[in-house]
Amino acid sequence: MGANDLQQKITLHRASKAIAQQPGPWSVEAIQALLDKPLMDLLFEAQTVHRRHFPDGDIELATLLSVKTGGCPENCGYCPQSAEFDTGVTAQKLMEVDEVIRAAQAAKDAGATRFCMGAAWRAPKDRDVEKVAVLIEAVKQLGMQTCATLGMLEPHHAHQLKAAGLDYYNHNLDTAPEYYTDIVDTRTYQDRLDTLAHVRSAGISVCCGGIVGMGELPVHRAGLIAQLANLDPYPESVPINSLVRVPGTPLADSEPIEPFDFVRMIAVARITMPTARVRLSAGRQQMGDAVQALCFMAGANSIFYGDKLLVTGNPDVEADIRLLRKLGLQSRRNEQAEVHA
Ligand code: SF4
Repeated sequence: MGANDLQQKITLHRASKAIAQQPGPWSVEAIQALLDKPLMDLLFEAQTVHRRHFPDGDIELATLLSVKTGGCPENCGYCPQSAEFDTGVTAQKLMEVDEVIRAAQAAKDAGATRFCMGAAWRAPKDRDVEKVAVLIEAVKQLGMQTCATLGMLEPHHAHQLKAAGLDYYNHNLDTAPEYYTDIVDTRTYQDRLDTLAHVRSAGISVCCGGIVGMGELPVHRAGLIAQLANLDPYPESVPINSLVRVPGTPLADSEPIEPFDFVRMIAVARITMPTARVRLSAGRQQMGDAVQALCFMAGANSIFYGDKLLVTGNPDVEADIRLLRKLGLQSRRNEQAEVHA
């Protein structure tokens, strides 16, 4: 057995032990109390939990591609792809397989291990799922983990995607149930929970998180983490997004979240979901290196990697590699990427 296999076994063993010791259920009050802790105490606690479950310097690189852009009939107040908002995004059809393969291969060459495909649908139709299944099979053949975010799923769609080789399905809860209708009213919180249940039942791993900086109160942030942490089991991937305020969307003028409050969200996600990949997602471009470093300290161990996040900006690959190297966070995978960068 090689050193890498051994390391993987140790990680898996730790992860399964951790799942057996999963804390919770979490009350909103308990999560609020964590969010209110002195920042250094909170960071110390989060980093302690993090080191118990993950090897040092292990950052997952996931690349997200919009395979079908814009024209979405939903009205998520943060999203430039909604047809209801005038944001300058031009609707495009589903990408061809060879275009997607080229993008996935480029992401792999740059060091990404997971390739996420996003489509701006309310819910895919049967024929859409058939086409996406072809994309999943093609990306899977490159040896990458696959993830898709396609909107609400019916149980049979989830099974079809699983059969095509889908590893993860992303469907965010966005915010706490109490604030949800301020953000979107074309589908309910329960609709989202139903899709997550269908994904779980099909045996696909769950990627589910939310967005902060949308004008929510601190109690709504605690409520979002409570919802995520109390899913049974909690998601394997938890993207925490800081709103990217896109002109033309209803939330374009929201008050940005205080950077330390964002760091606190990451820390509390780590403490309440110890074995999840906590992904530092949208909003990194506005954060700067120091805040990102604090997020890694707080337990973030995954980033979206590539210069675009669906239709909004993201730090470029070279900047990310430089940052990870400065922080001593290069995983073996990243070192390979450095050779290509
Ligand atoms: S977040 Fe998704 S469902 Fe909501 S408007 Fe954007 S593309 Fe549509």
